[in-house]
Amino acid sequence: MNYVGYENICRALFYKKIAITKFGSKNIFNKDVLKINWMLTYRCNYNCSYCYGHDNDTGFFHRKQDILKATEKILDLNRSQFEFGLNGGEPTIAPGYLELLKLIATSTKSCSVVTITNLSRKESFFEKIAEMPNASSLRFHCSYHFEDGDFSRFLNNVKILADAGCYVKIIILAHPLFYYAVKSFTKAAESLSAQIKADCQRCDVVLLPIKEKDCNGFYTLLDQRYTNEYRSWLDEKTGFTKNIDGSEKKFLLMEVSDNNTKSIKSELVYLNQSILEKYSFYKFKGMKCMAGYNSIAIDPKGDLSPAVCFRGKKKFGNIFDSEPEFFPDGLICPYEYCTCSADYVLPKYKIS
Ligand code: SF4
Ligand code: SF4
Repeated sequence: MNYVGYENICRALFYKKIAITKFGSKNIFNKDVLKINWMLTYRCNYNCSYCYGHDNDTGFFHRKQDILKATEKILDLNRSQFEFGLNGGEPTIAPGYLELLKLIATSTKSCSVVTITNLSRKESFFEKIAEMPNASSLRFHCSYHFEDGDFSRFLNNVKILADAGCYVKIIILAHPLFYYAVKSFTKAAESLSAQIKADCQRCDVVLLPIKEKDCNGFYTLLDQRYTNEYRSWLDEKTGFTKNIDGSEKKFLLMEVSDNNTKSIKSELVYLNQSILEKYSFYKFKGMKCMAGYNSIAIDPKGDLSPAVCFRGKKKFGNIFDSEPEFFPDGLICPYEYCTCSADYVLPKYKIS
């Protein structure tokens, strides 16, 4: 499928000529993988003006021993594979973060872990991670923020992690008021990524424009403060194909059925939010979704839900005082849109 193909599928979906019958990561269908999306805290050591993901007024930290006990509880579950996603706020400032990472990295279970971080801790902090056994299995999605970020420390930390064999994705938040700094940082990050790749280590760079809410409450509109020159530069750097970095593979399986002929066609699609939103490949209401079987989401209080989409809407227990509740047969999707990249990958099936 090429992008012309995406347009056609989008139109056919709109006119109900076809329907999505299956969607999700091709690696998860019919597997007992458990994805754990864990917001360790709402607290953050930065205060970005465009942030909607942190809260230093009410955010708090859990005790280290409680975090580790909860992790052991998860790892004791009878699953063949665990995929942890640690985020916040800023997860690296949460007490017990390093011990948690080590527990996962050295588990005898099949585990992977990605941390979503602003990479602001001191170099000595990341050196401790680099010294962990299995450090090369760790992944970091590191966002650079221009209001509070420290240019040199960030790039040094990238290098420490990449030299230890960790996968590092540098995500540059293109602040609308920092055009020249964004350009210069992007150049430096791209050059570092090229050096790291030349040393056979893994590092990609993604430039992300700042978005505003649309009338449906989703962040799909470009921030109005961008100048025309800045917009053109962003267009040039982040056109759909260019915004797909080296680490991304077409691993979302989309199966569609023709409503007249009933013929089935399958395609592989990039996990790229802009593409999925642009072509409306994110509407699964009424389909069976394996949220609650292939995923759990844990909020900063420890409250559990089947997937990120349910967070704050309904409580399904708390990781610190109850066992996670599972839905072996999945759930029926109640929502108009599936809007979180952690949720896109969950298997979804049309029920007849
Ligand atoms: S670093 Fe991330 S979580 Fe922290 S304030 Fe900035 S956008 Fe929010
Ligand atoms: S919104 Fe939630 S229930 Fe619906 S498809 Fe996405 S993850 Fe599944």
